Amino acid sequence: MSINDFKFKRDKMVETQIIARGIKDERVIAAMRKVPRHLFLDEALWPQAYEDYPLPIGERQTISQPYIVALMTEKLNLKGNESVLEIGTGSGYQTAILAELAEKVYSIERIASIAKRARKVLDDLKYTNIVIKIGDGTVGWSEYAPYDGIIVTAASPYVPKPLMDQLKIGGRLVIPVGGECSQDLIVYKKTGENEYEEENYGGCRFVKLIGAYGWKE
Ligand code: SAM
Repeated sequence: MSINDFKFKRDKMVETQIIARGIKDERVIAAMRKVPRHLFLDEALWPQAYEDYPLPIGERQTISQPYIVALMTEKLNLKGNESVLEIGTGSGYQTAILAELAEKVYSIERIASIAKRARKVLDDLKYTNIVIKIGDGTVGWSEYAPYDGIIVTAASPYVPKPLMDQLKIGGRLVIPVGGECSQDLIVYKKTGENEYEEENYGGCRFVKLIGAYGWKE
């Protein structure tokens, strides 16, 4: 398959899965058109890279469905000058989308081999505004806090308190919260030191967030 074939598939993905389902933020749409999702996957999966479902990335983890990536990103309401914390680097695809839309992206992944692979793909694509660390993201990353936005791309039984603490007032936390088999996608907008508004964007299914403030191993 040539670069043009992938571009064609990507445009079709954006039209039929992203715009058709109601994503409106033009910057998110442009990022989804631009980032070469197939490069974040093993070559054997390239033919499926733009299909409407999650795919395996090794270590029993997944790259999220394109629509979920677009929806979660849109809910962060990024304008370009933000500092964003991502928990669950995974393939690095969502990280690249965030790096297109924010000033700086800090991303934490607990599985070293996965983080290293993502780092290489992101370096090959010449992203210079992404910092990745290996560790437990449920405790956040206090060194660079507070953040304008925090996105958790694994399923949590509850909202990890350190993440809410490391969010700026006015900032947004996007996180799937619920049981092991299904969760709700929740957006928390921090309105005061210990105050937030909450919106529920419906059912979703993620792999488990494992850590001090998540599921136990
Ligand atoms: N957004 C990713 C992408 O675009 O490929 C998909 C992320 S995948 C669904 C969830 C990731 O969260 C996995 O790679 C998993 O190892 C990681 N994870 C789970 N618990 C974590 C934790 N406490 N801290 C950091 N990463 C964690």
